[in-house]
Amino acid sequence: MIGDDFSEIREAVAGLCSKYPEGYWRELEANCRYPSEFIAELTAAGFLACLIPERWGGSGLGVREACAILEEICRSGAHAGACHAQMYVMGSLLRHGSEQQKDAWLPGIAKGDIRLQSFAITEPDTGSDTTRLKTAARKRNGHYLVSGQKVWTSRVRHSDLMLLLARTSPYEDGPGRTFGLSAFLVELADAEKKGLSIRDIDATINHHACELFFDEFPVPAENLIGEEGKGFRVVLDSMNAERILIAAECIGDARYFIEKASKYARERHVFGKPIGANQGVQFPIARSFADASAAALMVERAASLFDAGERCGAEANMAKLLASEASWRAGDAAMQTFGGFAFSKDFNIERKFRETRLYRTAPVSTNLILSYLAERELNLPRSY
Ligand SMILES: Cc1cc2nc3c(=O)[nH]c(=O)nc-3n(C[C@H](O)[C@H](O)[C@H](O)COP(=O)(O)OP(=O)(O)OC[C@H]3O[C@@H](n4cnc5c(N)ncnc54)[C@H](O)[C@@H]3O)c2cc1C
Repeated sequence: MIGDDFSEIREAVAGLCSKYPEGYWRELEANCRYPSEFIAELTAAGFLACLIPERWGGSGLGVREACAILEEICRSGAHAGACHAQMYVMGSLLRHGSEQQKDAWLPGIAKGDIRLQSFAITEPDTGSDTTRLKTAARKRNGHYLVSGQKVWTSRVRHSDLMLLLARTSPYEDGPGRTFGLSAFLVELADAEKKGLSIRDIDATINHHACELFFDEFPVPAENLIGEEGKGFRVVLDSMNAERILIAAECIGDARYFIEKASKYARERHVFGKPIGANQGVQFPIARSFADASAAALMVERAASLFDAGERCGAEANMAKLLASEASWRAGDAAMQTFGGFAFSKDFNIERKFRETRLYRTAPVSTNLILSYLAERELNLPRSY
């Protein structure tokens, strides 16, 4: 639906995904397992390093190509949440790290020897109000000592490095709400022996999210990315890429639902004819097709701006908003089309329905996007 000119990439991704049918994803979820085999194949094929410049061993492609990859993964029935962060979290390092940091980490990330799948921003008591986060990093003798708590930190048990946002000076000291936040790359090997406790969250979807508790956890000073106190900018750049890429996943989910529902509606006979011959069954699927096609255009627009190095905050947010709503509605149409069988795990629809629902809430909720658009694009008063 987007980036239709990337047919070679799409075919290659679809071919790889066909080795991991829906039964694989069902079994993973039933056993809370991580798709290590799938990630290893994606890594070996170079897909997860597509945004890393060739100089550091990646393929130097753009976000448009990355969108095509993630869209195809989701379209196949897989859950791209297990792998997407390896593509974009490194963007903070790429755009704000020193040459030394890039040389030290990017080649390993490109090869997949270093897994940078995790980023810790959200905290239990601050929620969407990121600038109020409380996890503190105090500089002492060549280290920062980190204390505080994070929640919903995905894939931390499947990462070697994690991007952490913490406060190096209190909110009240200003100047400005975002000042005083700093970004660090945390090395996770042995972290649990040095003051980091990790607790799994029992969640609705198989997303491997955890709670983190830092107690004077030491991070070497050289792992600070960008300038101390200016870390919000460091993570913000990755956030736009994340929103666009997750929007592409939603387009893939929508296509999955639309294709599955159409096929079932052609094949399922009730009252002596295919259920798809009834407009009451056709129209929600057709409406979803229109919604997803329109959202895909916004994803394409946002990705093109990002790749051209232009401002894309509004477009990235709109892409995520429209695509997540389109995939949710397509999921609902598929649930209705499959009737009672939609509720059987064997049919996979309900799993994808739960997975795609996440994206109306994370990584940023629909309301927060609407507030951003109202304030930044429409010059309406700030509501928070
Ligand atoms: C499965 C999963 C994986 C995640 N992975 C990660 C991760 O890897 N790293 C990470 O840092 N975070 C992660 N998150 C966290 C996610 O980004 C947050 O849950 C999300 O940003 C919403 O924050 P919150 O849960 O604190 O909701 P809150 O901020 O408490 O908001 C609750 C509701 O109130 C609404 N609301 C709040 N303030 C306003 C306002 N001013 N105006 C209108 N509406 C408002 C919101 O839109 C939302 O609907 C993950 C979450 C989940 C569920």
